[in-house]
Parts: sequence; C-alpha cells; structure tokens
Amino acid sequence: MTSAKSSVFVITGPSGVGKGSLISGLRERIPSLQLSTSATTRKPRGGEADGVDYHFLEPEEFDRRIAAGEFLEYADYSGNRYGTLRSEVEGRIAAGHPVVLEIEVQGARQVRDTMPAAVQVFIAPPGHDSLRSRLEGRGTDNPEAIKARLAVAEEELLARDEFQHQVVNDDLERATTELEAIVRDKLSQSPG
Ligand code: 5GP
Repeated sequence: MTSAKSSVFVITGPSGVGKGSLISGLRERIPSLQLSTSATTRKPRGGEADGVDYHFLEPEEFDRRIAAGEFLEYADYSGNRYGTLRSEVEGRIAAGHPVVLEIEVQGARQVRDTMPAAVQVFIAPPGHDSLRSRLEGRGTDNPEAIKARLAVAEEELLARDEFQHQVVNDDLERATTELEAIVRDKLSQSPG
C-alpha cells in the first residue's frame, strides 16, 4: 500500500502516442525513477527480452496470477492481457523509491481507484493522424494490429479529461520537460 512518502506515477494514453520514449527521456533526467516491468500475454517482438521489456506469460499463467491476487491492475487490450504485478511496485514503494507505470487507460482507471495518491498523466497526440504515422513508422505491428490499435485509441482519447494531468506529445523534448516538471513537483512534496 502507498505510504504518504511514496510516489507512484501513472503514464497513460493511446498506443503509439510515445509514452515509452517520454518515459525513457524522463528517466534520463530523473534517474531515481524506477520503471515497473509489466506482464503480458503478447508475444515478444524482435529485440524484446523477457524480464526486461515485459514479463512474457502464457495466458494460463497470467490467469493463475490474477486468481492469486498478484496484479495491482490488469486489462485486456487488443487481444492480449497486460498487467502490473504487485511485486514490481510494492517493494519499491516500501523502500521509498518513486515508481513509474506505463499502462493503458483501463488499467490507469483501476490504479486511480486503488491508489488515489498516484499522479496520473495522460499523454495525448498533437493531432488525429500522428498515432497512425507513429504506429506505421515504428514497424512493430502488422496492418491488422495497427487498425485494431487505432480503434482502441479512439476510445482512449475520449478518456483524456478524466486525468489529473495531460501532456500533448507534440515535440518529444518539450513534452519531456513538461512531464519532468509534473514529476519534480510531486517529488519535492514527498521525497522518495
Ligand atoms: P504494447 O503491446 O505496444 O507493448 O502495449 C500495448 C498497450 O498496453 C500500451 O498502451 C501499453 O502502455 C499498455 N500496457 C503495457 N503494460 C501494461 C500494464 O501493465 N497494464 C496495462 N493496463 N497496460 C499496459
């Protein structure tokens, strides 16, 4: 459970918006931030390593862990499951480390309920077509998968106003600076 001293940062927003790049830039600027490694039933993409990019689990194992209460949050997303393991977060909080979660919107809503003190930031695209060009440009998903992700993104964009903070990723450097200010502000109130 969160203590008054711990800081949890939830970075959410549609697939392709650049959450991962923003978080990498943020962690270069604030190295004390620790990133929770999510679990997923999605197959690894080329270059992804188990335990580094994700904990890659078979669906049966994911379900077993749900039943065992091991997830802080989890969601079905575009045909796969994704979730944050309590073990990734709770030990770090107990040790006083700030933790960052990079998760989709349904999971962010769950964290909002269970950890109301967590700082929630929605990353928004600068315009309608930027998600498509990013998803196509990174070359990690086939056209069908991109179509499915864009359909989900339409829904996710409607959730934008639910979130405490919104950062438009119009320019990576500028958006990272805005995100950094949000994080530093919270850390200055509750160091750790
Ligand atoms: P990808 O397949 O592109 O790695 O991730 C698909 C979506 O799942 C992204 O929006 C990503 O942020 C989200 N995601 C990654 N890890 C988690 C998690 O632990 N929980 C939830 N709810 N979403 C996650």
